[in-house]
Formats: sequence, structure tokens, C-alpha cells
Amino acid sequence: MKKGFNPTNYGNTCIFEASLFKNAGGVIHGFTTRTGGVSAKPYDSLNLAFHVGDSPEAVIENRKRVCHILGAEIDNMVTAKQVHGTNVAVIEEGHFGLGAYSYDTSVPDTDGLVTDRPGLLLATFYADCVPVFIYDPVKKVAATVHAGWKGTLARIGAAALNKMAAVFGCDPSDCLVGIGPSIGPCCYEVDAAVIGLFRREFPGLDILNNTGEDKARLNLWEANRNIMAEAGIRPDNVELAEICTCCHQNLFFSYRGGQGQTGRMGAFIMLTEVPA
Ligand SMILES: [Zn+2]
Repeated sequence: MKKGFNPTNYGNTCIFEASLFKNAGGVIHGFTTRTGGVSAKPYDSLNLAFHVGDSPEAVIENRKRVCHILGAEIDNMVTAKQVHGTNVAVIEEGHFGLGAYSYDTSVPDTDGLVTDRPGLLLATFYADCVPVFIYDPVKKVAATVHAGWKGTLARIGAAALNKMAAVFGCDPSDCLVGIGPSIGPCCYEVDAAVIGLFRREFPGLDILNNTGEDKARLNLWEANRNIMAEAGIRPDNVELAEICTCCHQNLFFSYRGGQGQTGRMGAFIMLTEVPA
């Protein structure tokens, strides 16, 4: 497989996968696109989130289609009520199926999911925000992390690595990281307040490109790459998709592009059973 994130077509559904994760083995992962589902406009067609106003039946059918492609069971899916915070939840046997069939049962107030349990499908949802995949092939621990501008500013990727170290003894220098398709520095214009916050938090990092008075384009990809590097991830162990969801709205849902009314893609990760 070519280095970086590569698209694979499964029938009408296109899923992006990072070569580092594919080659490592022991894990199944993917970032979905908007193709190959049953949802009507503006959620056409592979919307995977309940909370955006789509028909729940369509969302369940779309989730089943993705599970089928990944070789996972929808009953073993776990999702979160994402709030642009920094909470990272450790998911265990008793949590299997939380949020799989309804938003109400999702893990509350959480933007990162971590597990060491094989067969459990972690899922977080996106329309422009940055999906960060983490996999420790030594300790066999996987995570998916939702990083919008607030989560990036609060270093949620590092928070997930800290949780993995504290609970499972993971060493960041063993971990692989994938930074998936999301809004790019080509499109992500922010205002003076956000510019000020990022200048303070990441002094010296070249992530803001002035576009006018009190406006700049923010590079969330580079910010997250930097956060993971500072947290101990080796440079060779990070892959960036560098694909902008706002530039490619035929393939991706984009919150900005859709003026807020759109579906959500999924970042999925699941440890596979280790043969005895
Ligand atoms: Zn763009």
C-alpha cells in the first residue's frame, strides 16, 4: 500500500485507510466518505450520525453497511456524544453497543475513545473536524479522537496518549498516528479570537496564514502533528491524509461547505482477535 491515506472502493462506498495501520496488522480502521449510503439530502448519502436530523432508520442502515465492509458487528460499536472537549473514555466489555442504535445511549461528554478489547468498534463522527487515529501495536491498544479547533487547542491527541500510558502502559514511541481527511489550511478561515488563542498556545509554530485584517487560515493538520510529536510520537509513525473535506464536497460532508446542515463521516478503529 502507498504511504499515507489511501481510498479504497467497496462497491459504492469509498473508505480511506492509513498505510501505517494497514501494514502494522492487528487492527481494522477507516475514515468513511459520503458515498454509498441511503440518506436523503442534505445527508446524502452515507450519514453516520443520529444527532444531525437525519432519519434514524437511514443512519442504522448506513452504519450496518460500514460494519459489513469493516467486518465488524454494529452491536459492538461504541460512539460518544462529542462536545469539543478533552475527555477520553476507556471502553470495556460492559460498554459494547453504547450509541450503536441511538444517540441517547452514546458515551456522554466525550471526544476520545480508547480500548484494548478486540472486536469492539470505536466510532467518532466528523464534518470538517480532524480525526486522529492512534494504535499501539505493542500493547494492542486503539483510539479514535475528535479534534476540532477547540480539541486541538486543548491537545486532545496528547490527552488520549496520556490515558493510554496511564491505563495500559503504552509508550508513545511505539504508537502509530493517522490524521485523517478534514478541513485544510486552504479553507479553514478563523477570526481574531481563535487566532489569538492559537498564537498563545503554539508560539513559533507556522500554522496561521493571514488572509486579511483579523482573519487567517488555520492549519489544524500541522497543529495536531506537532501535538503528537511533542507527546513522543516518532516522526515516521505519523501519517497525514492532507485531504480537505471542504474542497471535496462530492466525496465528504463539510460543515462549513454545507452551512451547518450536513451529515457526518465516521472514523472507525477496532482491534482484531489475536490468535491464541
Ligand atoms: Zn480546502
